[in-house]
Parts: sequence; structure tokens; C-alpha cells
Amino acid sequence: MEKFNKGYILNIYDNDENDSNIKALLDDGRIISLKAKGFQKPESKNRAAIKTGSIVELEYFQKDQYPNSGLLKRGTYVSMFKPTNQRDLSVVRFIDALWTRRKEATDNTFKIIEKIINELNTQIVTWAHVILIIRDYLISENIKLTATKCASCSSSDNIYTFDPRSGGLLCKNCADQNIKPIDVELLKKIIICFSSSDSSFTRKVIFNPNEAAVLREIFMNQLIDDLGVNADLLKLI
Ligand SMILES: [Zn+2]
Repeated sequence: MEKFNKGYILNIYDNDENDSNIKALLDDGRIISLKAKGFQKPESKNRAAIKTGSIVELEYFQKDQYPNSGLLKRGTYVSMFKPTNQRDLSVVRFIDALWTRRKEATDNTFKIIEKIINELNTQIVTWAHVILIIRDYLISENIKLTATKCASCSSSDNIYTFDPRSGGLLCKNCADQNIKPIDVELLKKIIICFSSSDSSFTRKVIFNPNEAAVLREIFMNQLIDDLGVNADLLKLI
């Protein structure tokens, strides 16, 4: 059956001499691998339109019983990420590291990535963008962090730290002795990022370099040790 979806291109793998496989995250949350015949030929129109890190209108054939694979007919360029610095490039690679091995994203993943890709070209991506990506990814892993009260005892008093591996915010009574406290100003920003459903508001939160370093440590531990994601790229963001 012929289908149309907007998709974000996670990766392109070359097969034999002429064909390639295109991994795309679709606007309906599916992650699909599309066989692209003749993609490596210099005259291929699809090759000119479809690049890693770009948003593309995809026209493809897919059997209903195989929602994660299909045959590409045509790709039409919508918007393209043009890396201007290492940091932006690392954001795109991080998105790839999170999603390329999965079969499903959340209903919001495509929208979040599309916004971020458009902003990569116009402004410096902040850690608030990265948190949006991580928050959405954790939701896809059924991890919903509590950011309005202590994740353990539900108290709103004496909030002491934020530990995603313990479920979110922790009060002083519930925090394990090994868990470091987090500065109140940073906690306030984390609360905005994890409790606001309005992503345009979240993206305006600015983290200073020290705060970014704390966030990097917290999330790298969780993503690498608990979820097996290659999150070393966060060191470059
Ligand atoms: Zn508590």
C-alpha cells in the first residue's frame, strides 16, 4: 500500500553497489527502515533530497503487517539541518543514538525534533533543548519523572535534589546519602523543564556551563548505565 508521511532522517546505510536503507522517524511515531533502490547512483533524485538530519516528505510502499519496513518511492525535501558547529552536530548525532535502534517513538517525538532542527539553523541550541529530547525519550521508555514533589514520599517540602534514577525530585529525608544535593536555582529550572507541557516555554530556560555539567552527569549515568544508550555525545553539547 502506498503511504505518505513526513519523516526525520536518522541514518542512511549503503547496502550493495546501488541501494541504500534509510532509517526515518515518522510523524506518527513509527521508526521505519526504507529500502531505497538506486540511491547511490549520482543521478538519483532521492539522494539529492534525503540527507541524515533532514526533514523529508516520504512516499513509500509498506505492507500493513510490517509497519517498520518498506520500499521508498520518493523523498521530497522539507527542511535540512546544516551543521555550523560541533555542538549542533552532536545534538543531531545524539538524536540518532537515542532513536535509531528503536521501533517506536512517542506521539510528540517528531514534533520536538522538527522544532529543534529548525532552531539549530537559527540559534544556539541550549541544554533545555537537550532536556526536551531526553524527557521525550524517557517517556518512550515508560519513565515519567516527578518534578512537582518528592518522587518517593510526595512531600513538597525540603526538596533537596533531582535524581532521574529515583524517579525525579527527592526531598532531604528520601535522598540517599550518596546522592549529591542540587543548587536551588538549578532545581527551579529542572522543575520548569520537566513539569511544563509547553515546550516553547521550556526551550527558553538557560542553563549556565556549571549547571549543564551537573545535568550531563545525571543523565549520562542514567542513559548509559540503565538504558544502554551511547550518550557519550552529551560531553560535546
Ligand atoms: Zn521524600
